[in-house]
Amino acid sequence: MENLAATPAALEQRARAVIASLAAPDARKAAQAFAAQAGRDVAIQLEACVNCGQCAEACHFHIVTGDPRYTPVYKLRPMLRAYQRERAPFRTARKLLGLTPPEPSAQELTAWSELLYDSCNLCGRCTLVCPMGIDIAGLVRRAREAMSVAGFAPPDLYKAAQRALDTGSPVGVGWPALRRQIEIQETETGLKVPVDVAGADYLVVLSSMEIIGYSEVIGALARVFSQAGVSWTIPSVGFEATNVGVQLGSRDVAAALLARIVEAADRLRVKYVISPECGHAYSALRWEGPNLLGRPYAFKVVQITELLDQLTREGRLRTRGKDARRLTYHDPCQIVRRGGVAEAPRRLMHGVSGNFVEMPAAGAESFCCGGGGGVSAIHRAEKLRFAAFACKKRQVDATGAEALVTSCSNCRNVLEEAIDEYGMTLPVLGLTELVAQHLDPGVGQR
Ligand code: SF4
Ligand code: SF4
Repeated sequence: MENLAATPAALEQRARAVIASLAAPDARKAAQAFAAQAGRDVAIQLEACVNCGQCAEACHFHIVTGDPRYTPVYKLRPMLRAYQRERAPFRTARKLLGLTPPEPSAQELTAWSELLYDSCNLCGRCTLVCPMGIDIAGLVRRAREAMSVAGFAPPDLYKAAQRALDTGSPVGVGWPALRRQIEIQETETGLKVPVDVAGADYLVVLSSMEIIGYSEVIGALARVFSQAGVSWTIPSVGFEATNVGVQLGSRDVAAALLARIVEAADRLRVKYVISPECGHAYSALRWEGPNLLGRPYAFKVVQITELLDQLTREGRLRTRGKDARRLTYHDPCQIVRRGGVAEAPRRLMHGVSGNFVEMPAAGAESFCCGGGGGVSAIHRAEKLRFAAFACKKRQVDATGAEALVTSCSNCRNVLEEAIDEYGMTLPVLGLTELVAQHLDPGVGQR
């Protein structure tokens, strides 16, 4: 609750101070930040590790490379060392005996940057298998806090955060670009896309990836909500759902970006904010938001597949005909494993697919696409990301699917790139668009 009572301006100021740290990486500051992170809750988890190695067998980066450095718990070494140095029992005596680890050097921290960012999607597969219940992914995120505040995060993520603070989008997509895409979709569908409608029930926010890469989703939403009679709107300010602060590992950046959505929701007095087809946007908005901002929301957050499923079960949304291709579904880690939305997309898949086949280890055990946790935005990590895709590829290949469906636009983009890299020919589809393509024309369309 450290952001309690922080104004948007104060959040913004603190976020910009984090970005400025890129200019002057500071090993001493990192050591202090790691020590601050290694509190009692972290210590209990670090002390619990029995070195069983099960997390290593769960992590796609370790599986594909066999590199022991990619063992998930090993990535927490800087945190463990900070704990041993600053917090562990008998540390003073151990220090006198020269038994505590030294503070990390700038060189070591630069090497850790690759382990904590390039080779971790924050996917939580290691967390799932740990017999001691250690939330390794959560601790990697905490370690990123220390790295980012001291200037040791990847420059690509600092730059994306800077763009997000300056323009509202990590890739610089502003309102004029979104307005243009809305106009195109209005022409395509013949439906009005409501913008800045005060008192609407649902606020739709979008990821930049959707706006620039998959803007048909806007038309799909217009068609779905038209049939179901949903009152909705898109804000012209505060429409960006992605949160690079989560990927960078900066609470300050995450809070400043999140505050913009909350301001839009409050300004338009909506009852719900729809988290779009974006994995980490969902975890930021739904699970982390109130803690980051230090206050509860005045609205509820619903993931788009949950809402589509609810509307279907209420009889407000009806589909007709089924896709005859053999389809399989990729589970976005933050929505399914970390977010718990596993059944809704499956019910939707069964509604529109006549030949839906699950991957082996589908659902909570599924492998990441390789690009989550900001990895897809780190250019130096591209080769490793493609290598890590081999685990996902094995899952997909086992299904014999003719098309792959998902509900995260970042996953979709990463999957398309990896499929291309591996010479596969599988198309990747968005679930919302797939549902919209099968709407029963005889129902609704108000
Ligand atoms: S969160 Fe995922 S990518 Fe990161 S260490 Fe764990 S299994 Fe590997
Ligand atoms: S699975 Fe858990 S207990 Fe086993 S090595 Fe990894 S962190 Fe330690």
